[in-house]
Amino acid sequence: METDSFIEQVLISEPEIQTKVKELGNQITQDYQGKELRVVGILRGAFIFMADLIRNIHLPLSIDFMSISSYEGEIESNGVVRILKDLDKPINGQHVLVVEDIIDTGLTWKHLKEVLSTRSPASLRICALLNKPERRLVSQLDLDYLGFEIPNYFVVGYGLDFDEKYRNFPFIFVLKSEYYDQSVR
Ligand code: 5GP
Repeated sequence: METDSFIEQVLISEPEIQTKVKELGNQITQDYQGKELRVVGILRGAFIFMADLIRNIHLPLSIDFMSISSYEGEIESNGVVRILKDLDKPINGQHVLVVEDIIDTGLTWKHLKEVLSTRSPASLRICALLNKPERRLVSQLDLDYLGFEIPNYFVVGYGLDFDEKYRNFPFIFVLKSEYYDQSVR
C-alpha cells in the first residue's frame, strides 16, 4: 500500500523527533547528575520513544513498564485508570521518570501520579513526547519534560497506534479520515 494513500498530514518529521529526543535526553542527563534513574514506560504507545530517549540519557538507569487500560469512556467518566500490568520492581527510594507517548485529557497521568506517589519514590517526574492542551480535563497538570505541543488531532506513528496499526512509522502523522472508518480498517 502506498504510504501517501492514508497520510493526511505529517505533523512531526523523523529528524524533528530525533532532534527533540536528543534535547530531552541531554536535559534529563543534566538534571539527574549523580543520581540513578528508574525509567518507567507506559505500554504500548511509549515504547519507541522510550527506546530512543534512554539512549540519549547518559546516567546509570534501569527500566520497567506499566500497562493501563485505555477505555476512553471509562477514563473520561471517572478519571480512574485500571492497571493491566504493574511494575515488576518496587520504586521506593528510586528516582522515577515516567515516559508517556501523549498527554491528552491528562486523566491518565493524574491518576498514575497519585498511584505511584503512594509507593514512596525519591522523586517522580514525567517525560511526554506529545501534549494536546486543548483536550485537557485536569487543571494544573505539571509536565516536567515535554517534546511537542500539538493541536487537537488524533495522531499515529512513532509508537502511537490506531487499531494497533501505524506504530512502526518513524514520524508522527494524521490519518485520512476514511481510515478511521471501521469499514476500511
Ligand atoms: P489522557 O488520559 O491524557 O487523556 O490519555 C492519554 C492516552 O490516550 C495516551 O497515552 C494514548 O494512549 C491515548 N491518546 C490520546 N491522544 C491520542 C492520539 O492522538 N493518538 C493516539 N494514538 N493515542 C492517543
